[in-house]
Amino acid sequence: MKKIYLFALLTFSLCTIHVTAQELDEDGVIIINWEALQETKPYEKSEVWEPIPEKVSPGYLTQAPSDATILFDGKNLDHWHHPKFGYGARMDQVESVLTAKLRADEYKPAAWQIKDGAMIVQPGSGPIETKKKFGDAQLHIEWLSPVDPGKSGQYYSNSGIFFMGLYEIQVLNSYENETYANGQAGSIYKQTIPLVNASRPPGEWQSYDIVFTAPTFKADGTLQSPASMTAFHNGVLIQNHTILKGPGVYIGDSHYIPHPEKLPLLLQDHGDMVRFRNIWIREL
Ligand code: MG
Repeated sequence: MKKIYLFALLTFSLCTIHVTAQELDEDGVIIINWEALQETKPYEKSEVWEPIPEKVSPGYLTQAPSDATILFDGKNLDHWHHPKFGYGARMDQVESVLTAKLRADEYKPAAWQIKDGAMIVQPGSGPIETKKKFGDAQLHIEWLSPVDPGKSGQYYSNSGIFFMGLYEIQVLNSYENETYANGQAGSIYKQTIPLVNASRPPGEWQSYDIVFTAPTFKADGTLQSPASMTAFHNGVLIQNHTILKGPGVYIGDSHYIPHPEKLPLLLQDHGDMVRFRNIWIREL
């Protein structure tokens, strides 16, 4: 007991000495004596020197950086195909589609048009997906809603970007076009409303820059960590590390179902001739 008491007293005294030894300015703010610190260099303790981040040449504005995989450069659909099994509208359907997809990866050539350096949704031909599979990724994609004053709501330039063919961020004309907020452009479809509406008018090119983190599952198939998305719409933050409830579904609630670490990226055919261009991805 005595020892502990003495130790406490000593510590207290040292602290007192330490505090009183500090020089204060006229406002009571501690002045750091930088010259004296040159001898002990306490600031070096919080410096981390390794690992050294890999050098990457940044692109100019929306140009792909040097380590990106170019998914569409305006010339062809070589990186894409049309899957026999696309996506589901309700969780039970999502599960059956995924089961079928994993059992047999069947597909046809992507049938969307290419015009003026853009790919255009061919209504009725179905979604297209990447031949390559991705998990965690940074995606850049540009899209355009064609001008069509006769359309409104969910029928005005609807498409969608489905990470892993499951997790959708909505593509829609949301410039003076009312719809449910968790279904407008930049929403995590039917889950999370975007922070702001950064939409440009129809007829103008827009961009999404998205960081997607794939969910992980335990050996027994239960969820280990959920998926998340951070997204910029035309350079404006609209989803800030948003945690997903599960796949994007049109009907009912979502929940996680186990799936492989990597799956194709899918673009939706919702019957509107939405255009896409300059699509690149960086695996994380
Ligand atoms: Mg959609």
